[in-house]
Amino acid sequence: MICYLGLGSNLGDRESSLCRAVTCLSDNGVECVKASSVYESEPFGYSDQPAFLNAVIEARTRLSAQELLTIVKEIERLMGRVPGPRWGPRPIDIDILLYDELTIATEELTVPHPGMRQRPFVLLPLHEIAPGVNIGKGMSVERALESLDIDKGIKKYAPWRCEDVR
Ligand code: ADP
Ligand code: MG
Repeated sequence: MICYLGLGSNLGDRESSLCRAVTCLSDNGVECVKASSVYESEPFGYSDQPAFLNAVIEARTRLSAQELLTIVKEIERLMGRVPGPRWGPRPIDIDILLYDELTIATEELTVPHPGMRQRPFVLLPLHEIAPGVNIGKGMSVERALESLDIDKGIKKYAPWRCEDVR
């Protein structure tokens, strides 16, 4: 199965966290075949947070969507611990954007990811690696981008520098 995952980090060594997430995914049967550049975006909502780094990957897996969610949550949990006595905010967020053109609506899992249509930090990197992809209800990523004001608060930060891409 082919899936697209959105990665985000706004804590610690953000770029390493993106990379480490991809390595952990690949150790768990989710093989990254393409990765977008890394984008930096201002957090919306709480503006007293550090800026996010975001990227999107295309991955191949034999896991079901539900199994993939379990793995994703486990990796978030593993990477979420910060040294010291206190728990900080999570240094990694992994969202299942698309899974094999499936539509899923359970209590735990909604695919295509419901927020992605409005999020430039998802659509821009997704468009970079899969310009023709359908993001649900017949909407192409291209069209979703056209209907967004995308030059707000997001810029290319770096090329993808992690090696774990086949
Ligand atoms: P967000 O990514 O919206 O900031 P979280 O990462 O904390 O928030 O996700 C909260 C919950 O969203 C997860 O426990 C998971 O069960 C649920 N969820 C629903 N659909 C998805 C999806 N497509 N990808 C990842 N998590 C999802
Ligand atoms: Mg999430």
